Amino acid sequence: MADIIQLLPDHVANQIAAGEVVQRPASVVKELLENAIDAGADAIKLIIKDGGKALIQVVDNGVGMSATDARLSFERHATSKIKSADDLFCLHTKGFRGEALASIAAIAHVELLTRTEEEELGVQLKIEGSKISSQEPIVTPKGTSFCIKNLFFNIPARRNFLKSNQVEFRHITDEFHRVALAHPDIQFHFYNNGSEIFHLPKSNYRQRIVNVFGSKTNEKLVPVEEETQVVKISGFISKPEFSKKSRGEQFFFVNNRFIKSPYLHHAVVSAFEGLIKSENHPGYFLYLDVDPASIDINIHPTKTEIKFDDEHTVYALLRSAIKHALGQFNVVPALDFEADQNLETPYDYKAKLAEVPRVSVDASFNPFAEETPKASHRSSAYEKPSTKGWENMYVGLESKVGKESDFSSVSFESETITGSIFDNQAEAIDTVSTTFQLKRKYIVTTIKSGMIIIDQSRAHQRVLYENFLKNITIKEGVSQQLLFPLQLNFSSTEVHIIKEIIDSLINLGFAFDAIEEEYVSISGVPLLVPESEVGMVLDQLISDYQMDTPEDSFSQSDIVAKTLSKTLAVKTGEQLDSESQLALVNNLFACKEFKISPFNKPIYITLTGEDIDKKFF
Ligand code: ADP
Ligand code: MG
Repeated sequence: MADIIQLLPDHVANQIAAGEVVQRPASVVKELLENAIDAGADAIKLIIKDGGKALIQVVDNGVGMSATDARLSFERHATSKIKSADDLFCLHTKGFRGEALASIAAIAHVELLTRTEEEELGVQLKIEGSKISSQEPIVTPKGTSFCIKNLFFNIPARRNFLKSNQVEFRHITDEFHRVALAHPDIQFHFYNNGSEIFHLPKSNYRQRIVNVFGSKTNEKLVPVEEETQVVKISGFISKPEFSKKSRGEQFFFVNNRFIKSPYLHHAVVSAFEGLIKSENHPGYFLYLDVDPASIDINIHPTKTEIKFDDEHTVYALLRSAIKHALGQFNVVPALDFEADQNLETPYDYKAKLAEVPRVSVDASFNPFAEETPKASHRSSAYEKPSTKGWENMYVGLESKVGKESDFSSVSFESETITGSIFDNQAEAIDTVSTTFQLKRKYIVTTIKSGMIIIDQSRAHQRVLYENFLKNITIKEGVSQQLLFPLQLNFSSTEVHIIKEIIDSLINLGFAFDAIEEEYVSISGVPLLVPESEVGMVLDQLISDYQMDTPEDSFSQSDIVAKTLSKTLAVKTGEQLDSESQLALVNNLFACKEFKISPFNKPIYITLTGEDIDKKFF
């Protein structure tokens, strides 16, 4: 057989490498910003259009490049930053692989302008898909400007894979935050579609954090300071009372490089133990300085993990530094959780009774419809009784109609429907007058074939979820006007997310007076959302949205409905009176899908007579 192995041509190799280095516009932004910093710039401008799809430009006032270097910089493994393998152990630069520019040039249209201090004329280079298309001398300020257009022009699959402009913009903003927070001594400008997003003057760390996340941040910060031989720790944690549902503001920097470290994160969280609710996240901006020889950052360019030689020591030092900081600033005694009844007291749905009087009229009610959800009572803790048929309402409007609002008039035993609800299991609810609560977690009731044990929290999540989803999709959420508008502070990124989901929120019944750079003012809330929980609900929503940015409006509604149901559902540990138990069971079985929770967990299990018989053997 003839030899068949060939070396790939450079431009193909570059394109393959690019697939790894450049995943999205934000990766380009990261590489270009880092190059500008490595070039010693003290003023950097980032300009993007259409989420970076149309344009990414980074302009710096660093050392610039000679014409030869400018050409060379696009070669793979071409770098000025290390010369030998030994240099890897004393890295003081962000880059060192010499891969970024070669990769970017392989998959985009690149224009480079650069001039060094010594030269009078600079050079302009144009590259498309790894090929230099023009090189000219040019008058240009000292420093470098990279202009990246038509990213992924030759990789349609990648281009199509990109998310909406807004989503890509957010990824870029995240990268920008990371770089800007690590380098307060550099001035940054950031423009998106012609408007200025950030203007960050040179400052110190604290001021930089405040400039990025808003003036309200200042009062939240507690300094952390610790210097040992292994590591110097500095930076800030947020006071426990400002801990949030969303993980948003958590930053580790090691030698001014943003990193992610679940292990160190754990150290921080454990220092906060007992000071914040377990579902909340502490905010932190922590800068660790270590001997470059004691870490290994020779990892994949897109990854942000690093390896410490002595991770355990760093963990212990970090934890104690934070405990110390929390103690010193007297934030510890300020928190008295014993005094906060809400943490201990079961869910107070009785209090909710007051806010729920409502008349719900079901225009589609058809007394002769075959399927009749049944319920003999309902409790206001689960207000909206049934959501049967809701999805049909928004899909088409023809469709079979579920009976919605006449629960109180229908007596349970007389229902034929039980058969249809359980038909695949041939089960039927015997009577729902006999529910009881087990371990403040389960509701037990009987069915013809035996008994059924329902997870109260999951059941309520399902009921709320279908209800919210219906409200969003058919835009019928009932709003409750607030006497005084509620002003909630957010970072600009968070406000941005609220803007993205504003339609869903309004459909649900939220009403907004104002949405400003750093706060929103809320004048109305959905009936099902108590005013006191609004902040928490929005926090959670922002957090969930960040974790799982939806692609279309349906999945957006889905996330909103899921988050609200998760946040507002009764929890394990909450005691329910028999009326509420009953209402929950009935509302659950009136749901379209009553077997699994919105989070894909089983809602109930059944124990048949046979199962029980077996136990007696
Ligand atoms: P790396 O940063 O890993 O060295 P890059 O591909 O990002 O690799 O850049 C290659 C080289 O191009 C750098 O080593 C540097 O010499 C030069 N370079 C890139 N960006 C700039 C810039 N903004 N100013 C000056 N030189 C630059
Ligand atoms: Mg680089």
